[in-house]
Amino acid sequence: MESNQVYIERLEKKNIKPTSMRILILRAMMDVPYAVSLADLEDKLDTVDKSTIFRTLTLFLSRHLIHGIEDGSGSLKYEVCSSECECSVDDMHTHFYCEKCHRTFCFKRIQIPVIDLPEGFIMESINYMVKGICSDCAGKEDLSSCI
Ligand SMILES: [Zn+2]
Ligand SMILES: [Zn+2]
Repeated sequence: MESNQVYIERLEKKNIKPTSMRILILRAMMDVPYAVSLADLEDKLDTVDKSTIFRTLTLFLSRHLIHGIEDGSGSLKYEVCSSECECSVDDMHTHFYCEKCHRTFCFKRIQIPVIDLPEGFIMESINYMVKGICSDCAGKEDLSSCI
């Protein structure tokens, strides 16, 4: 059986008590390489009460364990932050929305270009969303063109 230590450490680092429910939800989010919506988590954890999932996400967000992403699909997606993240403007990074499989990816290592705002405007957050075809879908496309 896989150890929960990595999830417990992540939770404790953000001052969140590592209950088994929180570990379960964090693990479900870290299991997949893309961002998940509330509905995705409800599907994945169909034995868990929906309001518990919602409350847990709200707690995770408020402690900067995860961040929300508006990808234009209509539902907010959530992704686990890197462990040093404070969710400040400096921690903002590029997001990618695949128009084929509708998955949203966090590119935590790709910084957002510096933007010069007109005088008097103060930046508080930034949403940098690239849209296109993800590598999985691009690979599939290659295969189908061979057939
Ligand atoms: Zn895709
Ligand atoms: Zn992200």
